[in-house]
Amino acid sequence: MNILAFFAHPDDETMLCGGTLALLARAGAQVHLLIATRGEGGENGEPPVCSREELGEVRAEEMRCAAKQLGAASLRFLSYIDPLVGPDNTLYAFTEDEETLTAELVEALQAVHAEALISHGSNGEYGHPAHRLCHRAARKAIERLGTQAPLFYTIQATHPEHPRVRLANPEDPAHLILDTQSVHDIKVAAALCHRTQHALFIRNTSRELGRPVTVPEVIRDWESLHRVYPPVHRLPVEDELTNLLRATGSARDPVET
Ligand SMILES: [Zn+2]
Repeated sequence: MNILAFFAHPDDETMLCGGTLALLARAGAQVHLLIATRGEGGENGEPPVCSREELGEVRAEEMRCAAKQLGAASLRFLSYIDPLVGPDNTLYAFTEDEETLTAELVEALQAVHAEALISHGSNGEYGHPAHRLCHRAARKAIERLGTQAPLFYTIQATHPEHPRVRLANPEDPAHLILDTQSVHDIKVAAALCHRTQHALFIRNTSRELGRPVTVPEVIRDWESLHRVYPPVHRLPVEDELTNLLRATGSARDPVET
């Protein structure tokens, strides 16, 4: 099965759905990663791993490392530049031209003969404007492909046991819940690739626990998916992607509420 996984920044693939991607790759799917930016506007590490000017290139290399760990079949970047984080941690999208982004995504889906698209949720997980932009472009790309459209799944779907409510997309009910414990080590290895982001990964948890934590300690083992297209009318969801994930023994159907 050919899958295109489309995200805004390097590390989104690992921290938001690395277990899912690793399970799919292990099950024999060709997981093609498409990342819109090289994360140029993000942090460069504490202490800095590189200069600000080098950050895009260093993060692209980190992304190549993570793609290898996750077992991805290919990795491509679009040519957008990630804007710097603004005052008071204001986050920005990387373009206002959704049309061009949509056209690029359509082209990328066709290039890998995608049978499924996996991307950001409707709220961009924690409301990140760049993640929300990718979600909107993904929706439009699916619409544009009409009867040729692949399955479209979004990440960090909402369910009562979501391990990090802050990241759950409130409008996206979970259609499949994944216990990613069997690929925990792969997810950790991929997270360790993103060296410039380690301080960011551990910051909130360290603060919450009042002690410094390590990167492996913040990696959670539950992930969830919401199917946008075709729309789900009843559970359990059945299609090629869910069948592949169920065959790994790591999938669970959500309890209907
Ligand atoms: Zn991101």
